[in-house]
Amino acid sequence: MADIDAAILLPPARALRRLPVDRETLARLGGEACIACGAVAELRPARMEFTSDGAGGLYGWPTRVCPQH
Ligand SMILES: [Zn+2]
Repeated sequence: MADIDAAILLPPARALRRLPVDRETLARLGGEACIACGAVAELRPARMEFTSDGAGGLYGWPTRVCPQH
């Protein structure tokens, strides 16, 4: 069996990236506001929404909705 250089098996280092997501969008994705309209009262659980990590992976967000949605 041949030896393998372990360094080549490690994922490449990634630089931190600033994402174009504002505070309201984060509140919606984080379930602090209705995912559809941004209302913050009488929220109930809704479906999972997914965003890309930019490398083929997905990140799930357990969103919530207001009574109108
Ligand atoms: Zn709503």
